[in-house]
Amino acid sequence: MEIIRLDPGELYIGTSPAEVHTILGSCVSIAFFHERSRMGAICHARKPDHVCHPAPFGLKVCRELGDHVRCSLEFMLAWFDLRGVPRPELEVKLFGGAMMFANTLAAGSVLGMGKRNVDLSMEFIRTRRLHLTASDVGGPWARQIIFFTDTGEIRLKRFRKSATELDGLEQLV
Ligand SMILES: [Zn+2]
Repeated sequence: MEIIRLDPGELYIGTSPAEVHTILGSCVSIAFFHERSRMGAICHARKPDHVCHPAPFGLKVCRELGDHVRCSLEFMLAWFDLRGVPRPELEVKLFGGAMMFANTLAAGSVLGMGKRNVDLSMEFIRTRRLHLTASDVGGPWARQIIFFTDTGEIRLKRFRKSATELDGLEQLV
């Protein structure tokens, strides 16, 4: 199976089977999956939002698309819309948004970022009436996730503080 490594600010849409690997701190990944067509999409966004004019009837690629939760979500949803996928058939999963570096003074903005990323994601999912089927967000730990684009499964591992201090929890969601 093809392995895709997703860096912060990147987004991947799979139309044939692939494993997408990424590691999240305060960033969030939102995965979309459509079972009937076995297509999956996933982003790795760093920040919630920026000044970006909406394009409700088409597919817009802004120049900071992958960095922002809202732009990434709008893009992925528009992509499935244009493929004719009914929104009620989409499964959505949400991960990340950790509060990293909780014991450092300079962490104010970083602390808030994870929560803001999660809040915006949840608001988007709620207002579009999308079907959230799994989530693991917040907390002081980083996460490694592997997304299987043809089954929609996510393999999740949590890490304490650094990627070397694995706390041993592995889940399939
Ligand atoms: Zn944008």
